[in-house]
Amino acid sequence: MPDELLERLRRFQEDAFPQQRSLFRHLVDEGQHPLTLFIGCSDSRLVPYLLTGAGPGELFLVRNVGAFVPPHDQSQGFHGTAAAIEFAVLNLQVRRIIVCGHSHCGAIRALYGEVPAAAQNLACWLDLGREAMLPVAEPGPEVMRRTEQRAVVLQLERLMDYPMVRERVEARALTLHGWHYVIEDGEVHVFDVGVGAFVPASRAEHAGTGPYVLGDDDSGLGASGVPLS
Ligand SMILES: [Zn+2]
Repeated sequence: MPDELLERLRRFQEDAFPQQRSLFRHLVDEGQHPLTLFIGCSDSRLVPYLLTGAGPGELFLVRNVGAFVPPHDQSQGFHGTAAAIEFAVLNLQVRRIIVCGHSHCGAIRALYGEVPAAAQNLACWLDLGREAMLPVAEPGPEVMRRTEQRAVVLQLERLMDYPMVRERVEARALTLHGWHYVIEDGEVHVFDVGVGAFVPASRAEHAGTGPYVLGDDDSGLGASGVPLS
């Protein structure tokens, strides 16, 4: 009985890799220079490369349960996602950060339910989405969608608490993008900061820079805040 994973690895090296050998050679010789930090939910149905048409070297990718952004102040201990944000902005100097949530998100659903008692880290992690919750006992599909979208905006707001992020956004060197991917439609709804709501990508006029319109005084707050219909 052949080991399926070994089979897949061999197939990659023999069939797929040769077609991209020179591209990978270039990326090794010149180093990686991705323009985009993509923070996405770990959900297996979210496939960033398919959505964006990106190839090797184009996306600096961080995925976690819920596509959450931890606070910058290190108050919660170790955070791979926070480290990745700092590395992407300071070392790679990415030009945009996408936070991508999605429909039927188990993390968002878990906010309204119970997690197993043994899942202590998960229970703690979900705190990063709680502010997005709506005050309902029985969340239906519409409440789920709105919570998923509110959670994306919440993470964009938390990104703005990272000094190196805020500084570059204000200097117009970095844009922030909130996405909500509807799996069954194959469509991403982007947070349109001009409208203060999520709009299908096919109709949107502004794809960045969330979460709020920066005022002249740079106070930021008050323009749209967490919008959210
Ligand atoms: Zn999810």
